[in-house]
Amino acid sequence: MIVKVAKKAGFCFGVKRAMQMAFDEVKKSDDIYSLGPLIHNKQAVERFEKDGLLTVDSIDEIKDNKKVIIRSHGVSKNIYDLANSKNLKIIDTTCPFVTKIHEIVRKFKEQNYEIIVLGDKNHPEVVGINGWADNECIIIKNLEEAKNLSIDNSKKYCVVSQTTINIDTYEKIKEILQSKISNIVFNNTVCSATKERQDASKELSNEVDVVVVVGGKHSSNTQKLAQICSENVKTFCIETKDELDKEELKKYKVVGVTAGASTPDWIIEEVISFLESI
Ligand code: SF4
Repeated sequence: MIVKVAKKAGFCFGVKRAMQMAFDEVKKSDDIYSLGPLIHNKQAVERFEKDGLLTVDSIDEIKDNKKVIIRSHGVSKNIYDLANSKNLKIIDTTCPFVTKIHEIVRKFKEQNYEIIVLGDKNHPEVVGINGWADNECIIIKNLEEAKNLSIDNSKKYCVVSQTTINIDTYEKIKEILQSKISNIVFNNTVCSATKERQDASKELSNEVDVVVVVGGKHSSNTQKLAQICSENVKTFCIETKDELDKEELKKYKVVGVTAGASTPDWIIEEVISFLESI
C-alpha cells in the first residue's frame, strides 16, 4: 500500500502554541485546571490529565487562587471577570487569531453595529466571540439561514466568521448578505491554517483511492476535512489507528492521510505506520 500524507496536516500554529504553554504549566503546577477539554482530541487530553491537569466545565468548580488554562478557542469577557473575582491565575492560551476576532467584535459593538457571526452557535469559539458582544450576536451557520435572515436596513452590520468554517461557505454567505444589507462590514476571519488544511486535503483526495482523516470526533475542523475528502473519494474518519479496518483497506492501493488542526503528531505517525504495514 502506498501512503501519501497531505502537504498540511495536524497541529496548527495556535494549537501547537497552546499545547506548549499548557505543557510548561502542568509540569510545574499541582492544582491546575482546564476550562473545558484542552483540545478536541481525547487522547491528547488524557495524556495531560495523567500528568495532573483537571478538566472542569465551569469556573465555579475551581477553588479560589488556583491556576486555570483558557483554551485556544478563547472565552467570553465575563469568564475573565469571574476568574479575576476568584483570584485565579489565568494561563491564557487563546489563539491570537481568535483574540483578534474578540477585538473586532468588541470595537464594532461599541459603535452600535449588529454583529453577525458565521459559524456554529454551540462551538466554544463562537460562544466566546458572542460573549464579547453582550451575547447579542446574530449567529448563522449556512446559506439557508443567511437567505432567511430578517434585516433592518436602518442598522449597521459587522460580519466575522468562526476561524474553522469552510472558506467557500464564507464567500457564498458574503454574497447573500451583500445583496440584502446596505451598510455592512465584512471581516474574513477564517484562519489560513484551516484553508491550507482544507486545500491540501482536497488536493490529496484527487490523488488517492481512499482517504483516512485523523482527528477528534468533536473537532469541527477535522469533520470538515472529512466532508471535503468524501466529496471526491471514499473517506474514513478515525481518532486512532485502532479504528482502521485492515481487511477493508486492503482493497485500496493508494491511501491518503490527513489530520485536523488538533491532532497530535504521534497519533498521525501511528496511523501512517499501521497503513504502511499493510
Ligand atoms: S485553526 Fe487557526 S485560529 Fe484556530 S487555533 Fe489554529 S491557528 Fe488559531
